[in-house]
Amino acid sequence: LMTGTIGAAAVAMVASACASEDGGGDGSGGKKVGIAMPTKTSERWILDGNNLKESFEGEGYEVTLQYANDVAADQVSQIETMVGQNVDVLVIAAIDNKSLSGVLAQAKGQDITVIAYDRLILDTPDVDYYASFDNTKVGTLQGTYIVEALDLANQAGPFNLELFAGALTDNNTQYFFNGAWDVLEPYVTGGQLVVKSGQTTLEQIATENWDGAVAQERMDNILSNFYNDGSKVDAVLAPYDGISRGIVASLQGGGYTAMPVITGQDAEVESVKYIIDGLQSMTVYKDTRELASTTVDMVVAVLAGEKPDVNDTETYDNGVKVVPAHLLEPVSVDVNNYQEVVVDSGYIDAKDLA
Ligand code: BGC
Repeated sequence: LMTGTIGAAAVAMVASACASEDGGGDGSGGKKVGIAMPTKTSERWILDGNNLKESFEGEGYEVTLQYANDVAADQVSQIETMVGQNVDVLVIAAIDNKSLSGVLAQAKGQDITVIAYDRLILDTPDVDYYASFDNTKVGTLQGTYIVEALDLANQAGPFNLELFAGALTDNNTQYFFNGAWDVLEPYVTGGQLVVKSGQTTLEQIATENWDGAVAQERMDNILSNFYNDGSKVDAVLAPYDGISRGIVASLQGGGYTAMPVITGQDAEVESVKYIIDGLQSMTVYKDTRELASTTVDMVVAVLAGEKPDVNDTETYDNGVKVVPAHLLEPVSVDVNNYQEVVVDSGYIDAKDLA
């Protein structure tokens, strides 16, 4: 095919040739998937996007992959374009979980299957399934790490704790925080942990766009307003590695040489290095390869008219319906097990940590 237009009959022939080449068994030949990811500023979403693209292509799907730089309105228009391209499936990690009702209604009008990826999409009947990790458990692992690292079973304290959460536009934020707070709050009530800033509500501790620089600034303010009497921060609940590193930067600016206990999430390369160097205490590893393959399996099943393999049909109420979910297990990682969990599993290349 050189120049000029290809005739409709030829298109049909090529399409059917592709379909039969695909074996015809799984019926995925010629299917299109639109993947909407939030941002490239955080490593995990790049991995998610790449893993999803590769796995869907391996199943014979045509893939459109878009990132929206954490701007919710841009993500909505990217998804509108995908709907206009007649995709069969949308896989969406929402930037603003409440911004998608309109475009998803359009998608449903065209019978497009919609999968909420990692983050639940709220206030719409038009989301079919949810693929994620056990988000409450992520918080439980972070809170438990702080309790154990400070040895609260044996040490009376009091220890100073400060709290950070993710973006309020992300449904996961409350699950992470509630999971952690359920573990930590009894110690605050009992006086073994003290939040000197007094900032303990989700609204007070949230971080716009999950942005590390925003967290760094808030930590700067906390240090200058509440720790200007020579007292020290002993632990920081941080929900995500980018935020953890912002907090480390603030503490370094404030003269800390030894870091408090600082949690994280995603096992980003930079944070695993921080863990090795003693700057961050832990991270929560979520194998995005596994999440991608779970999602692809789900989609292949749905499009074949079968029931996908879900393991939770109770937890994730999006305000309109409980969305059937497949939840994977997060894993707590620190200096003692990073080698085994993230390097030996091939998630991070040892040479990237050198
Ligand atoms: C994801 C986390 C991630 C955060 C910031 C959350 O929705 O579950 O893995 O750290 O977004 O990107």
